[in-house]
Amino acid sequence: MKNIRNFCIIAHIDHGKSTLADRLLSATQTVSAREEKAQLLDNMDLERERGITIKSHAIQMEYTYKGEKYILNLIDTPGHVDFSYEVSRSIAACEGALLIVDAAQSIQAQTISNLYLALENDLEIIPVLNKIDLPSANPEEVSDDIVDLLGCKHDEIIPASGKTGLGVEQILAAIIERIPPPKGAEDEPLQALIFDSHYNPFRGIEVIFRVNNGVIKKGQKIKFMATGKEYFADEVGTLKLNQVPKQQIGAGDVGYLISGIKEAKEVKVGDTITDALNPTQEMITGFEDVKPMVFAGIYPVETEDYEDLRASMEKLQLNDASLVFQAESSAALGFGFRCGFLGMLHMEIIQERLEREFNQTVITTVPNVSYYAYTKKDPDAAFIVNNPSDLPEPSRLDRVEEPYIKATVITKSDFVGQVMSLCIEKRGQITNQTYLTPERVELNFDMPLAEIVFDFYDRLKTVSKGYASFDYHPIGMRQSRLVRLDVLLNGQNVDALSALIHEDNAYNIGKKMCEKLRELIPRQQFDIPIQAAIGAKIIARETIKALRKDVTAKCYGGDISRKRKLLEKQKAGKKRMRQVGNVEIPQSAFMAVLKLN
Ligand code: GDP
Ligand code: MG
Repeated sequence: MKNIRNFCIIAHIDHGKSTLADRLLSATQTVSAREEKAQLLDNMDLERERGITIKSHAIQMEYTYKGEKYILNLIDTPGHVDFSYEVSRSIAACEGALLIVDAAQSIQAQTISNLYLALENDLEIIPVLNKIDLPSANPEEVSDDIVDLLGCKHDEIIPASGKTGLGVEQILAAIIERIPPPKGAEDEPLQALIFDSHYNPFRGIEVIFRVNNGVIKKGQKIKFMATGKEYFADEVGTLKLNQVPKQQIGAGDVGYLISGIKEAKEVKVGDTITDALNPTQEMITGFEDVKPMVFAGIYPVETEDYEDLRASMEKLQLNDASLVFQAESSAALGFGFRCGFLGMLHMEIIQERLEREFNQTVITTVPNVSYYAYTKKDPDAAFIVNNPSDLPEPSRLDRVEEPYIKATVITKSDFVGQVMSLCIEKRGQITNQTYLTPERVELNFDMPLAEIVFDFYDRLKTVSKGYASFDYHPIGMRQSRLVRLDVLLNGQNVDALSALIHEDNAYNIGKKMCEKLRELIPRQQFDIPIQAAIGAKIIARETIKALRKDVTAKCYGGDISRKRKLLEKQKAGKKRMRQVGNVEIPQSAFMAVLKLN
């Protein structure tokens, strides 16, 4: 155990975590040159494309230092706030963290929020000043920022470059010398933390764990404490680039477990594994049941594909337990599902996976958060509203509560004014303002989660010219004056376009919504009135004018191939269209309310 080191890498997005991880893997010969492929740890297609780590991974390296052999377990953490609970459990499995700071960008919001998580777990922090090869690097200033943040010494900061490989040996030495070996006793009952899991279509769920006490042996009867379920450990092993089966994994070490578990739901990140016959008395602290934060309807484009879509969603849920869904029906869209997601990125991932891996074409409706509604009849019992259509009529409604978050923005002092105005416009209340350096400011504010779901990110990027970073965590429910804004197309209420909006913004949003839908909905053979309404009251109106001619008419009849091309293009465009009454609505229209500015 004294030769094991468990560590993670924490960084703001794009500061070079994956690149450096790859460097460590090649420096320790964990991957041979032949296997080397950029960004080994980001192995889902989507992750590579987006350059972010969605699911975390663990990998074991071996390294000989001053004549002694060490086992280094690198526990990678997801780099997006939607997955912050998984980040916190990964951090809980480590004794130390490399804190990577981009020498050109300096400290950003996720640097700080991840650092706090690491400090809460008493991790030894090794600061790494990365990308010093960049011409725009500012090593002296950024080192000062790091010293201010950590209270460390200048010479504890390791200058590095994931690009040139500079600093990699020094980082490996620091991992061994500065990070303490794990504590724990092999002779105690088994106590292991589940910090990750993966779905393997052939072998079932692979559980990734860190043993705190005891040992986990092949064939042992084990129990997951939060779910109460018992299994046999059919296979245990360590994670190299491939899985390496072992007879046992001992205290302090990290490994995988396969025990015929078919559904991701049965494995909860943060749960404790123990021995079924000789259980530990203590569950590892910090376990939470993760709850979805954002809800939206997912509907098949063709109504007859409903059962097919259900089968696909069930399969997807087998390997992503954080996806929840329930059948629902919409007057406008027919049968579909109300789905719960961890956040907006998670929602996009699910939608993309449904299309890529399951070949489904779906319509996703306006996302919303989960509200608590209280009726006059029963003002003490919260009624959970995951779909705006379920909000009780205003006459029956006593009050509504919505989820709030504590947000952190770090930006340049030049943009403080604009960022603050944006926060206020988004119903935020500034709680704190700290100058990290004369040029860099940290702003904290409380704000409704729903505003993040709407266009907060994009607006923040615009008002700060890209020089703002952002992070948040939920702080509970607060009462709000919310109303349901309905949209009528051709006189028919399209429930899938309804949204809950703050009373004070309703008129403005209703108006913009009508304008946006007029742009997005293609013209048809007849005029289509668009109306926004609150209850029975129409607050805005636009009209989509009828098309006058067939679009193919302008091809002069002659060029048949051009005509065919045009028709094909129209057909492709139609793929993501949904017929509601006699109006065709494109997917983009369902997201219109998110992009009103
Ligand atoms: P992550 O989001 O923290 O995992 O960051 P990545 O490792 O994906 O790196 C983000 C971008 O920075 C990529 O385009 C990398 O090629 C680049 N990058 C990473 N490390 C360095 C470095 O040390 N120097 C330079 N110049 N670029 C780097
Ligand atoms: Mg990455």
